[in-house]
Amino acid sequence: MTDQRRRIPRTDAVLADPRLAELTPVFGRSRVKAAVTAAQRRARDGEIDPELVAETALASLSDAGPRRVINATGVVVHTNLGRAPLSGPALEAVRVAAGSTDVELDLVTGRRGRRGRGALAALAQAVPAAEAVHVVNNNAAALVLAATALAYGKEIVISRGELVEIGAGFRLPELLESTGARLREVGTTNRTTVADYGAAIGPATGFVLKVHPSNYRVEGFAGTPGVGELAGLGVPVVGDIGSGLLRPEPALPAEPDAATWLEQGADLVTASGDKLLGGPQCGLLLGRTGLVERLRTHPLARALRVDKLTLAALEATLTHAANPTRAALLADLPTLRRRADELLLLLHADGVKADVVDTVAAVGGGGAPGVELPSVAVTVPLALAGPLRTGTPAVVGRAAADRYLLDLRAVAPDDDGDLAAAVAAAWEAAACA
Ligand SMILES: *Cc1c(COP(=O)(O)O)cnc(C)c1O
Repeated sequence: MTDQRRRIPRTDAVLADPRLAELTPVFGRSRVKAAVTAAQRRARDGEIDPELVAETALASLSDAGPRRVINATGVVVHTNLGRAPLSGPALEAVRVAAGSTDVELDLVTGRRGRRGRGALAALAQAVPAAEAVHVVNNNAAALVLAATALAYGKEIVISRGELVEIGAGFRLPELLESTGARLREVGTTNRTTVADYGAAIGPATGFVLKVHPSNYRVEGFAGTPGVGELAGLGVPVVGDIGSGLLRPEPALPAEPDAATWLEQGADLVTASGDKLLGGPQCGLLLGRTGLVERLRTHPLARALRVDKLTLAALEATLTHAANPTRAALLADLPTLRRRADELLLLLHADGVKADVVDTVAAVGGGGAPGVELPSVAVTVPLALAGPLRTGTPAVVGRAAADRYLLDLRAVAPDDDGDLAAAVAAAWEAAACA
């Protein structure tokens, strides 16, 4: 402990950190000094490493509001980093919708219009196989609405191999049961047959639920019927595809999409808007008119409805093919290599010890388990991880042995310059510490 205390840098030394010195004219000396004192106290209490006093003070000063983060993790859809970054057109739509907007007014007739009709029309147009569509707060909300409206006091028939935990303690079975529906589990962890479903179906059945195992794989002696085989059972088939692909994506051949599952006979498909679709957080519901209308007009629908900003961002995402998530997914290796080499030149010019390595990136966000996206990273010393995280903009990479990898797949090419500057600043900060 005493040794730890001796390592706490003196106030003068911390204030001389160029990043803090830069902020002194912005926040005033007394506020910067107070932030340093608070950080030293945390180091004394053993809450933080003494080496992180400057970073902690810096972070507390720039803590107002969400902070910009460059996603150099190599995980394209990163839930902790807010999943899909919005496209330029989506941002512009949000900016316009943030004021008074025609979300529920038809400006031609002057009458009340259907809420979010532009976004709903764009979604319907993107998936012609859907007779009707609806949008709620997220995919979990879409499932809650389906379970409540179609299976309250009834049974949802689901394979034991599809009782999924999505992440952070969010378990689909518990979510479904919280609505007052009962789960009728069929088959086993590794194998479920159409006959298993058939034997469980009766007057108490609300629907059959097919869940895409989006964050794990069962290999070996394993199998579950496809949507097409379940469609003939005489009860509604609801499919949770998770990822939000609306059409087949050649880069992700094993990932299900809404159009294909509907064409194969699903009556209702649910999906997230902020995973592979690359849009805002929302839950998409696509399927038969009768079912979608039952959900849309259920009293609970009002509690799950999306705000005008989400509708604006969703419509723009659906009407513009390009967005950062798609770009990251489809980025080709030669381009990633060229960007890494250019970054390396910039970093070496600043005296930063850095290298370039081939890596494997992931889709993430509960999408495409085991899908490996070849990628390229700039590596820097592990000691830069803390300064990078607390810098402006913040940069989050991933540790690999004694190096810190800055994977370029999920970094927007426009952010390369800022990334280089952030690394150079972190290098300087680490050298000063
Ligand atoms: C991600 C995911 C969910 C949860 O979606 P949210 O939009 O985060 O509510 C549900 N089911 C599957 C299969 C998923 O992959």
